[in-house]
Amino acid sequence: MANYKKNINQIKVFIDFDGTISINDLTDEIFKQNGEFDYHIKRFLNKEITIFEYWQEFTKILPENLDAYLQNFLANQELDAYFESFITYCSENNIEASIVTDNFDYIINFVWNYYNLPKIKVFSNKLKFDSGWQSLFALANENCGQHSAVCKRNVIINNTTEDDIIVYIGDGFSDYQAAEVSDIIFAKNHLAKFCAENRIPHHNWKTFFDVKRVFEQYVWNSSARKRHQASLHRKWVIEQE
Ligand SMILES: [Mg+2]
Repeated sequence: MANYKKNINQIKVFIDFDGTISINDLTDEIFKQNGEFDYHIKRFLNKEITIFEYWQEFTKILPENLDAYLQNFLANQELDAYFESFITYCSENNIEASIVTDNFDYIINFVWNYYNLPKIKVFSNKLKFDSGWQSLFALANENCGQHSAVCKRNVIINNTTEDDIIVYIGDGFSDYQAAEVSDIIFAKNHLAKFCAENRIPHHNWKTFFDVKRVFEQYVWNSSARKRHQASLHRKWVIEQE
């Protein structure tokens, strides 16, 4: 029993938002409805603009009355039906779960209130209105690859200890660097492909029903372990900083 308790206290869960908790990538959908998404995403993927420039273009197209827009917008969006039961399971078992997203605090907070979700720590970019919407990339790091303005990898390293077992749940290119430093990875879409190509062990998933089913077994059996390659990668990152 002592071991069981020790083990669950060591697990820390980090969860992407867009395409992971939300079914659609909400920033893509907002960009499509209000601006030239195809043009800017193509320029970003062709490395003609950085992720920061991409998000600045996104910030420019945000409607001034963002609350009214989001209220209508979310009526046509959907979250993973099992996400809430997953985070409830984590909190009931004293497992810390956080959101780490390249989306913006204002939008995530709005989503949280809209769906009345249990409070959870969120690491994200920031948005404020000051004669137009302005973005701030408070969690950026220039050594962190070009796929995400929030350096998810460093958020994870800075908010865990060497004893923690890091669980990461994601779907897209903003999650690549995070997966490299995580011990247990749940991956779908682009992230699953990245993990497969880079021989990073991962669980494929479609909904949080799958995630919860597998995750519960780790907790129940106290079978969560650190991943040697992830530990080496974390050390390597810390040495680079
Ligand atoms: Mg995503």
